[in-house]
Amino acid sequence: MGNVPLAVVLGIAQDGGVPQPGCYCETCLIFSRQGNQLSPASIAVIDGDDLHLVDVSRDLDRQLRMLPKKGIKITDVWLTHGHLGHVDGIGLFGREAMGAKGIRIHASDSMMRLIEETPRWKTMIEQGILIPCPFKGNMEIRTSQSLSITPIQVPHRDEWTDTHAFIIRGPTMSILHLPDHDSWKDTLEMVGKKTIHEWFQSLEVDTFLIDGTFWSPDELKHQENVPHPPVLETLQRLGMKKNNSMDIRFIHLNHTNPLLIQESKETKYLKDSGWSLAKEGEQFFL
Ligand SMILES: [Zn+2]
Ligand SMILES: [Zn+2]
Ligand SMILES: [Zn+2]
Repeated sequence: MGNVPLAVVLGIAQDGGVPQPGCYCETCLIFSRQGNQLSPASIAVIDGDDLHLVDVSRDLDRQLRMLPKKGIKITDVWLTHGHLGHVDGIGLFGREAMGAKGIRIHASDSMMRLIEETPRWKTMIEQGILIPCPFKGNMEIRTSQSLSITPIQVPHRDEWTDTHAFIIRGPTMSILHLPDHDSWKDTLEMVGKKTIHEWFQSLEVDTFLIDGTFWSPDELKHQENVPHPPVLETLQRLGMKKNNSMDIRFIHLNHTNPLLIQESKETKYLKDSGWSLAKEGEQFFL
């Protein structure tokens, strides 16, 4: 058998991270007291000598140290969209920090436009640090004999760029990475399916890492400005996990999400329904 790519979960927090800068909520206090931290949602895939990153956060150092293979160079970056925690690590590739060369940056046309219109990123293209590789939604991109990546467009407040989820597929197993979307109603409408189960089954994916930003629709004062499907609604749509159910785990948790507290009643609710959170450092042989 050929090479088996390894995917590693590099972060399960929303863009602000946990603790969130300047926040003294109970969760952020507990995390900072214990010296704990969660980084913005991101995945690494090691495929032979290639290292793919799906989204790049400012916590890149902490995140790269979670990889079992040390010192491997980043060859490819895949961007879901232009919001802070998904792109704010790109600057670290530059001469001020890592001095990287020839990183292929895969993004949609609108994300690529944002890169080219942002002077600090444009300069990185001119310096050969980044090599633009625009993709089209729903087209599988084969990166090696043992790995392919498929972007799927999803609705998410598209202020600067559109937004894509990614299917990461190896010879034996596959992952869907869906950190951000506005609502199940809009997403299911866009993909032309009636239920989450129906959509996920049609994708033929094994493990689904999905948007778990907020537990409830009223966690923030003006949550309508940052729409995400609340986990509670997702659980109600999913129903109880059965033995033969697919593997669905939540990522992209906001610091306000009570699922970050082990002893919360919401954590118990999630456990009782059989679903779970993804964990930082968790590995999947693809
Ligand atoms: Zn995000
Ligand atoms: Zn907080
Ligand atoms: Zn976003």
